[in-house]
Amino acid sequence: MGEKSVRVRFAPSPTGPLHIGGVRTALYNYLFARQNNGAFILRLEDTDQTRFVPGAEQYIKESLEWLGIEIDEGPDQGGDHTPYRQSERKPMYRQYAERLIKQDLAYYAFDTSEELDQMRKRLEASKMQAAYDSVSRMSMKNSLTLSADEVKERLERGDDYVIRIKLPRKEEVRFHDIVRGWVVVSTNQMDDKVLLKADGMPTYHLANVVDDYLMGISHVIRGEEWLPSAPLHVMLYKFLGWEDSMPEFAHLPLLLKPDGNGKLSKRDGDRLGFPVFPLQWTDPKTGETSSGYRESGYFPDAVMNMLALLGWHTSDNREIFTKEELIKEFSLSRVSKSGAKFDVQKAYWFNQQYLQKKPLSDVYSTVKPLIDDLGYEVCQEYVEGVIDMMREKVQFAKDTILDGKYFFEDPTEYDEKVVSKKWQENTNEILLKISNSFKALPETASPEQYEENFISVCEENGVKPGSQMQPLRVAISGQGVGAPIWEMIAHLGRDYAVDRLNAATEKISFSNP
Ligand code: GLU
Repeated sequence: MGEKSVRVRFAPSPTGPLHIGGVRTALYNYLFARQNNGAFILRLEDTDQTRFVPGAEQYIKESLEWLGIEIDEGPDQGGDHTPYRQSERKPMYRQYAERLIKQDLAYYAFDTSEELDQMRKRLEASKMQAAYDSVSRMSMKNSLTLSADEVKERLERGDDYVIRIKLPRKEEVRFHDIVRGWVVVSTNQMDDKVLLKADGMPTYHLANVVDDYLMGISHVIRGEEWLPSAPLHVMLYKFLGWEDSMPEFAHLPLLLKPDGNGKLSKRDGDRLGFPVFPLQWTDPKTGETSSGYRESGYFPDAVMNMLALLGWHTSDNREIFTKEELIKEFSLSRVSKSGAKFDVQKAYWFNQQYLQKKPLSDVYSTVKPLIDDLGYEVCQEYVEGVIDMMREKVQFAKDTILDGKYFFEDPTEYDEKVVSKKWQENTNEILLKISNSFKALPETASPEQYEENFISVCEENGVKPGSQMQPLRVAISGQGVGAPIWEMIAHLGRDYAVDRLNAATEKISFSNP
């Protein structure tokens, strides 16, 4: 028999914005699928109607699209296993729960929430595991304790009930996890989880296992928070007679707070000033807005690269990977067991690396909306020149424009520190002479020509070029630091440089300390 083809799924619940940890789960599934010529499936696990949040599904799809994670099968793409939203698959699940009842592997439970509460309190008081399990179930109202007639009567009457799995006592559940190795749990530590709820909807566990089976999922790659559910899922595969087609499991390490203490939460992002969501999200109920990587100015490929390395690395600790390289290099067996610390400095670093390497025209398209917003009327070539000069010093594309404001606007203020420290009695006079020497240059003079003229003016006037550099920069840009000076002047162009120099000498005056 040939190898089972690789089919993986990303199965978020649309209960809010997708956390960046969820995006990493999607990414690892996607890389694994592409690497193995398999299928990447988006399945929406929306059976908990009480937690439904409008807009969340759209948000999830938009996030994946922004990052370049293409979906092969899903609600919009279709596929051989439609529908891909669990709420639309509702009628499919009941038969499996009922099959288990027939085989004495599940049972009806009629307990009210008060009765469940009482049970928990009773068990807690006697220091026992407060769970509906192989011991406590015998003192509850279910089809194991009630007579067959009463069960029938209750069902016919339409009493509320749930269907629970009937776990055996003291059985060892063993399964292999690609990241964690062998996992062994005793059914004594597990409870009889609800499979079908009173509203007829399956629980996450039943729907997840049934769908993974029906959709031919080969590998379940998901966050570590689902590891405690895996033994139950393994039991369900066994009970349903699907053990042979059980997927392989890979539980990914948690994303931790920057200090390593606990799981990265939404609040950490707000507190420490970095996004924990791929895209900006406004809560439809509270109106509260959380920042997103996209709106903060990150490149999607930089975010993908950063996320790939949060929990996985190659043996040589290489850091920069294109999507194609990730597809080639990624391996589940190199995913680490221990949690991955989120590091905002590293996120900046990745973005900066991409900013420096990207074709100028790509960076231009990123900043074009900002240029328009600011009302700058400049051509693409000019902006690209600014980006080229500025990008080594900043982490985000937008900062090439914001920090390089002087390329687009005449200065209205001049760095006071430089003015008070560097302006001498003759500074304005020298600047005017420099201005005149620039005026004599051709319109398209090179950086070197400006530099040569500057040096000769200084020499002719017996001043050190070093002492005039900062005044020149401040006169032209208003700022004490910035792009390489001669390139900056050449890029602005002769006439702008001359006008700005003249204006500065009128506005700045030497004042004796
Ligand atoms: N619906 C679960 C979630 O929201 C899916 C977990 C799994 O992949 O099995 O993450």
